[in-house]
Amino acid sequence: MDRLETSKNRIKFFIIIILLPFVFASCSNEKAQDKLVVINGMTMGTTYTVKLVKGFKSAVAGEKVDYYLLKKGITQVLKQINQQMSIFINDSEISQFNRFRGSDWFRTSLDTARVIKQALSVSEKSNGAFDITVGPLVNLWGFGTRTVEGIPDEDEIKQSLNIIGYKNISVRLSPPAVKKRIREIYCDLSAIAKGFGVDRLAEYLDSEKISSYLIEIGGEVRARGKNNYNKWWRIGIASPTNTFGIQKVIDLKNRSMATSGDYRNYFEKDGIRYSHTINPKTGRPISHNLASVTVIDDSCLVADALATAISVLGPDKGYDFALKEDLAVFFVQKADNGFIEKSTPKFEKILDSRGDQN
Ligand code: ADP
Ligand code: MG
Repeated sequence: MDRLETSKNRIKFFIIIILLPFVFASCSNEKAQDKLVVINGMTMGTTYTVKLVKGFKSAVAGEKVDYYLLKKGITQVLKQINQQMSIFINDSEISQFNRFRGSDWFRTSLDTARVIKQALSVSEKSNGAFDITVGPLVNLWGFGTRTVEGIPDEDEIKQSLNIIGYKNISVRLSPPAVKKRIREIYCDLSAIAKGFGVDRLAEYLDSEKISSYLIEIGGEVRARGKNNYNKWWRIGIASPTNTFGIQKVIDLKNRSMATSGDYRNYFEKDGIRYSHTINPKTGRPISHNLASVTVIDDSCLVADALATAISVLGPDKGYDFALKEDLAVFFVQKADNGFIEKSTPKFEKILDSRGDQN
């Protein structure tokens, strides 16, 4: 299967999508359950789920939607994204760009150029905490296309640090193209590809005139309209312990949510946990006490990138950054005996509005 990331010690189903089994006003429980259609499969080395509501609030009258065709459409969209952005596919656009050794513009699809443009904008905002050129380091630590075990040499880390830096690439949209200033530049889009995939699927469902859906790829989600109980789609943020407990419950009102966590993809050596998120300043996996960062934003791509950026910045700088940028962010921090939660005022507001149906 196409892979955009490795999956060591991955806890699948990180975000638990809760569909409350309550009986609501106008429809019986059984009827509401019948209104839910689930389309799922594998993509980007993880799972995806698309939940749709038959009938009400959908411009396409329930039964008229051909779910078989819809699944085909969804599969095509995901396949195309992998072909554009997966470093695990040898002839994907990004792999070709990574092998390209010239200093001229390298033509790409508009999608790829747009994703890179947004990635660079998050890099600027986060002062380089988020950086798609971190690829050589991701590979060095064994989280990319190279399967290596253990800790790299100091020299290797230094060498890789010399060939990264988001300022060493430029992007343009018309005609779409990317350019590198250092021959060895190697871009890894894994930190935003899932978010972008969710946004593209939303666009696709919008184009099919479907107005109620919940899309999830590997834990990054986006909701539109109401669920099969005619309530807002309700999402649980999993607790960072391996017990599948729920830390927080959110009503996702026409928005996206992405979570970065150090317990999802890591290796352990001599009792130290090495995360797949790399600090581009040190060349090393992040090593603070942030267990997870959840960001809510209109765009899933932006939420996905920001969650990674804030993870790199850490609990204090990350929180200041979230305040400065007026973001809705929820932090779970490891403490001596358990976990501490922290959220920005914007996130609090979203929590407070839980249950409101407008
Ligand atoms: P998470 O959900 O934990 O944020 P993602 O899959 O979204 O995980 O992103 C992690 C992946 O992003 C890594 O496997 C690596 O390929 C890439 N990555 C690691 N560090 C950075 C960084 N500082 N900036 C951008 N991408 C990164
Ligand atoms: Mg991410």
